[in-house]
Order: sequence, then structure tokens, then C-alpha cells
Amino acid sequence: MGKMLAAVFHKKGENGGEITLEQVDIPEIKQNNDVLIEIKACGICGTDLKIMEGAHPANDNVILGHEFCGIVENIGEDVKDLRKGDKVVIDPNLKCGICPACRRGYDNQCEFLATDQTFGIFQNGGFTKYCVIPRRALYQLPIDIDFTKAALIEPLSCAVHCHNIAGVKECDNLVILGAGPMGLIIESIIRKHPINQLFVVEPMEFRRKKALELGANYVINPETDDVEKEIKDLTNNHGADVVIDAVGKSSTFEIAQKIWASRGRLILFGQDSRAVGTIKPNDIVRWQRSILGSYISSGVDYLDAISLIKNNTIDTDKLISHKIPLDNFLSEGMKIMKEKTGLKIIVIP
Ligand SMILES: [Zn+2]
Ligand SMILES: [Zn+2]
Repeated sequence: MGKMLAAVFHKKGENGGEITLEQVDIPEIKQNNDVLIEIKACGICGTDLKIMEGAHPANDNVILGHEFCGIVENIGEDVKDLRKGDKVVIDPNLKCGICPACRRGYDNQCEFLATDQTFGIFQNGGFTKYCVIPRRALYQLPIDIDFTKAALIEPLSCAVHCHNIAGVKECDNLVILGAGPMGLIIESIIRKHPINQLFVVEPMEFRRKKALELGANYVINPETDDVEKEIKDLTNNHGADVVIDAVGKSSTFEIAQKIWASRGRLILFGQDSRAVGTIKPNDIVRWQRSILGSYISSGVDYLDAISLIKNNTIDTDKLISHKIPLDNFLSEGMKIMKEKTGLKIIVIP
């Protein structure tokens, strides 16, 4: 059995742990519906950092990386519709397909989803050369697709899901809280649709610049500006019809409640399991506001994200800041993630 380099997570108690680069066995097909994939590109996600810091659970000794694509290297006996050489992208969240949620078309709420299944978090993922994935977690890609761009399909599918939940209308003023990679990917998709004005709230200067580059009408620094006053000034005292919280902290939940308009919709997207928020129920009743969650993505969002990448609808070059070899995963990739000096980092194993 051959060996391959992999970024492996080692748990230290309850609060996160350490990622090390090490040699592991190349996996083999075990089930008849398995597919062995040669990984061509894998994006680093904020979740990978949260796993290290203890803000997101993960299994011990697992190979991280859940935003990846590659080439079919071998297939199990029962796989009839893929062949060696086909290009595929992984949906890391394995959905059962038969529970009531899956059958209603809400497969992102699959009843068996949260029970330690996700590839790259609870099972081995994409920061390595090969991975074995069941056929049902794979989407075939057009043969001419660029792998570096295709590594954005997973986060883009989540942005598509979020955009659909937000139900943005032409006359809406929209605020995105946080211009990290996810906030910016959401901004990219929002900007493809008609909307009144788009504002982005972000403390880091280079990310605010990027938000402007991607089409924000105005950017606000929450550390130096009065966000509430700025949004009221910019919207004729009306506030934001849609707020997308791409951060998910107690502080952003608080900001959202200062800027949402009457009938405003707050979409909670960013996740931090430690965040706690307070809310006045009557602020919801009196102004008929709503709070909606947007969690990962469904199969339909994957299909849409694949089309968006294939058709170059999203300017991926503005979103991908670094392309690095797996050898530099810790020295460069995770370092940039910790310092927050990059955007989307794509690892080429
Ligand atoms: Zn992710
Ligand atoms: Zn299910």
C-alpha cells in the first residue's frame, strides 16, 4: 500500500487541537458504490481554522479539507455512471436520500447529516492526494472545467442557498456583515441580481476594498464608524431590508438588530457554536421582521453552483488570493488563515 502526504487533525481535549502534515496510507475502495478520487484542488475554509480553535467539532485523526474536486481514479462494482478520468466535485455533507427531509427536497436538513458524516471534518477529506467517497456524494463536472475554480463550488453552493433564502428584491437595500471569503462569495452572487443598494460591514481594510471591487455601493468599518448611523443615513432612515450575517458572532447579531428595516429579513449564515444573542420579541412583532437561518446547501444549489462556475458567472479570480502546494499547508495556508491576510486559499495536493 502506497503512502501520501495529508493534513491531519489531532484533537486536544474539548478545545480544538493541532493539524500536522504526515504520511498516511492511500485509501482503497471498500464498498461497491465507492469512488476513488485523485484530488486536484481543495479550498481552505474558515471552518478548518475553527476546528483547530475548538469552535467547530471534528473527529480525531481525520484528514481535513471539505471543499474539493478531482478526477475519478477507480470505481466500485455498482458505480455505473462514472468512469476513470471523469471530473467530479464532492458534496462533503453526506445526505441519506431517504429520510423525510431528504424526500421533501430539504436534503441539507437530512436527519442523518449531523451524525459525524461530513468528509474533511468527521471523515477523511481533501487535503491529500486521494480520497474514497460514495457515489451519491459526488457531482460530475463538465470536462473543460478548471479545478482551481471548481474548488469554489462547495462554498458557492452555500452562497446560492443563502441568496435563495434571502429572497432579495429589486428595491431592497442589503447589508452583508463580514467580508471574509464567504461574505465576499455571497456578495458575488447578490451582485448578479438587481437590487437597490449593497453595503458591506467589515473591520479589515483590504477586505473592505475587495468588497468595493466586487460591487458594494459603500463599505463601513464597524470599529471606527457608527454602523447604525451610517446605514440610516445611506437609506433615508429606512434601514436594511435584508441583512446577511456572514460572521455569526454575538456582536454581529447585535449590529443586525440595530440596522434592520421594518419588515427586514435577517439571514443568519456564519456559524460560531459559542455565540449567544438576545432579542426583544416585540421588535419582531411590531415591525414584522423575520430571522432565517441558512445552513450549508442542497443538491439543487450544487447544480446551480456548478453552472455558475462553468459559465464564469462569478469572478473567481477576485476571490482566490492564494494557490499553494500541500507542503505549504501549515507554513503558508493556515498562517494566512490565522492572520486573516488572504481570501480563498486553494491547496493543490
Ligand atoms: Zn466550509
Ligand atoms: Zn436524509
